[in-house]
Amino acid sequence: MSFVIGMRCRACGTICAPGPVHVCTECLGPLEVHYDYAARTRAVRREDIAAGPATMWRYQALLPLLPGAPVVDLGTGFTPLLRADNLGRALGLRHVYIKNDAVNPTYSFKDRVVGTAVSAALQFGLDVLACASTGNLAASVAAHAARAGMRSYVFIPADLEPAKVVGTAVYGTNLVPVRGSYDDVNRLCSEVADTFGWGFVNINLRPFYAEGSKTLAYETAEQLGWRAPDHVVVPIAGGSVLTKIAKGFRELRDLGWIPAGATRVSGAQASGCAPVSSAFARGADHVTPVRPHTIAKSLAIGNPADGDFALRTIRESGGAAEMATDEEIVEGMRLLAATEGILTETAGGVTVACARKLARAGRIDPDETVVLYITGNGLKTLDAVAGALPPVAAIEPRLEAFAQALAGAVA
Ligand SMILES: *Cc1c(COP(=O)(O)O)cnc(C)c1O
Ligand SMILES: [Zn+2]
Repeated sequence: MSFVIGMRCRACGTICAPGPVHVCTECLGPLEVHYDYAARTRAVRREDIAAGPATMWRYQALLPLLPGAPVVDLGTGFTPLLRADNLGRALGLRHVYIKNDAVNPTYSFKDRVVGTAVSAALQFGLDVLACASTGNLAASVAAHAARAGMRSYVFIPADLEPAKVVGTAVYGTNLVPVRGSYDDVNRLCSEVADTFGWGFVNINLRPFYAEGSKTLAYETAEQLGWRAPDHVVVPIAGGSVLTKIAKGFRELRDLGWIPAGATRVSGAQASGCAPVSSAFARGADHVTPVRPHTIAKSLAIGNPADGDFALRTIRESGGAAEMATDEEIVEGMRLLAATEGILTETAGGVTVACARKLARAGRIDPDETVVLYITGNGLKTLDAVAGALPPVAAIEPRLEAFAQALAGAVA
């Protein structure tokens, strides 16, 4: 089942045929995938979704798959939604949930967006899959290309965390470290995409890529018993996942699958790269690019492609945008691990730290049902927390030595 009928310009509304394009030929505005919503509402039932596989592909009918497009399935999605009462107590909130997307096949939510983009690449007959990555997209593109039997090129800033470099190269991709920031890498990739005609998941395939993030909202609503949370906190890099989570809940309301109502959407950024959160604080309508300097490298996009849209989504929903310092990010990572047993990467630390600040400021109501989106796995960024943990001394393998150490620890 495919309900894709074209691509629609988000600025001027012009509709064009589906293709590996992301800007409107009329006004250079950003394109998004356009569906036959009426036909979709008539044809798709909630019960059919619920009877589908325990992956993001249970929502296939709501995704931008073209007719006959192959699905490259790594088993992504339908990740746990966990009630987090211990964390909730620490934050002073009564109904907190964690959407744990750290457990996807390549350990971040990026498997969702690459899943929908790789399908489009194959359907358009592109034989090379590529991306500009802040780290997590790299591994996901390399893994999906491996499974699809495609060649891949992955462009990354040369100073990326070692775990992300090794965890990408292992899939047999062509790794291209670039001396520069993510924004430099992205600029280079736009030129490469134009010159070589490759499928860059987050550039010329971006409209298809972005739609994959809606599954984070679909799953959350289904796992809450087909209702949307009152409030969500979402990390922001390019701003795409935040806007698409909001869109996902809106679509479910339009389908009549969840009760009418509204979900407040709040954004989380690192203080060292907070173009959206600082525009929010200033009351500005437009995001001003910044030069990133933060341990949250996966969120280090100084010139976010969907920054203005994210800002508008946050404001219109009644949410807020917060930012966390490097120290607060590490505290956030430790807090989530120590209260709920979930090891997240720096981006998750940003989300937890910002949720704490929003709760303290009264921006999150203690009685709201709140979902925190934990988008990446902590094994990729162990160095960020290693230095913050207390040192532990080794002991001799004797009971007496252990008893002594224990007494010392208790004292
Ligand atoms: C890419 C990424 C994000 C942000 O995604 P955008 O859609 O670019 O805002 C959040 N968390 C992690 C772990 C990521 O890798
Ligand atoms: Zn246009």
